[in-house]
Amino acid sequence: MTIGLLCPGGNGATLSSLSLHYIKRELSQKPGYFADFILKRENRYRGLLSGRTIDKFDILAVTTSWAGDYFKLLKLLKEEGIEIDRTKRKSPEIITGGSGIAVAHKPFLEVSDAVFIGDGDGIFLKIFDNLLSGKTDMPWLVFDKNTPKPSPRLTEAVKGVALFSSNEAIFKNTRLVEISRGCPYKCRFCWLSSYRKKYKFRAAEVILDEVSDLNERAGLVSAALLSHPEIINIFNKLDKISLPSCRLDLLDEEVLKIIASKSVKSLTLAPEVGSERMGTLIGKKFDMEKLEFIAVNSKENGIKSLKLYGMVGLPGENYEDVEAFGAITRRLGEISSLDIEISVNQFIPMPGTDFQDAPFADMKEIKYKMDIIRKAFKPDRKKFKMKTNYGRFYQKVFRLIRE
Ligand code: SF4
Repeated sequence: MTIGLLCPGGNGATLSSLSLHYIKRELSQKPGYFADFILKRENRYRGLLSGRTIDKFDILAVTTSWAGDYFKLLKLLKEEGIEIDRTKRKSPEIITGGSGIAVAHKPFLEVSDAVFIGDGDGIFLKIFDNLLSGKTDMPWLVFDKNTPKPSPRLTEAVKGVALFSSNEAIFKNTRLVEISRGCPYKCRFCWLSSYRKKYKFRAAEVILDEVSDLNERAGLVSAALLSHPEIINIFNKLDKISLPSCRLDLLDEEVLKIIASKSVKSLTLAPEVGSERMGTLIGKKFDMEKLEFIAVNSKENGIKSLKLYGMVGLPGENYEDVEAFGAITRRLGEISSLDIEISVNQFIPMPGTDFQDAPFADMKEIKYKMDIIRKAFKPDRKKFKMKTNYGRFYQKVFRLIRE
């Protein structure tokens, strides 16, 4: 039985998916199964180890990191001449899972023989067996659009470290290590806080045992890394780390010093907005004093750049709030001399959140607001960079859900 492991987001996303690493590890211990990462090579999608083209696998195990992966999957299958309509396709069987599925699973059911909702750790083999034998006795497997969406299977990681690192992965030459799942905070716009209501962290002892022979940088995977009660102990035992976005309120002098001593050169924060008023509205405290403290202390400790996430199109937002985000992020660069990159995302009214019924903002309005930030932030080639992300794909997927 051959299983192709794929994330439609591209080679980097496939190699950086801890779920796909888990499946590979679990299946490699089962006689009769062979799993391989599917990467694009010379205009074809094929197995990393086997070189087998994607159409020659018995099953494609597809993980999605966001709802827009639906369109990427369709494009990829078309490119490879694989039938999209699952009722007409003879092979390969396709099963999809991951965060994109958890947000919007219905569109994926047109192309997938089944979708799996939640965490597959520890039961991947059973999932594949069920799929192949046509069994439906697994509550998190959905086979058609009329089946009500089940509650997701939410677990702790069985094994939390990637099998290998790669210079093609999103985090280059970095071994990903899972630290926790969920988040103890309840930001009103955030899908994770409604999807995973409990914060579950892995014991430091278990994590450190898994990474004891690590030679490369450890990429710590967690939505709330600094909330781990033993995080300082974990940091202290690792040589080189890379970090996800960190909560402002948990970054103090001690944490900044340790992080910087682990060869971290860039820090990512997600203030999301630029004013106290908007911070209160979205349930994520905005603290300018703390931002300034972090920027200045980061520089003093040897960190070179700061990446800041922001959002536009939130309900209740006005032009002054938007301008403030650009202005304060620029100010952080000026007072600290750090390189600053801002990544501004269109607000998405995610299902399950307090804002789920808020409308998508008009695209012209979003572009106008992005321009307001651009003017206040004044990007230049050397020290200030700005990226923008629009929510068109989410809007398209959400339309499909409502049809
Ligand atoms: S935005 Fe971040 S801190 Fe807030 S609930 Fe989501 S993951 Fe947690």
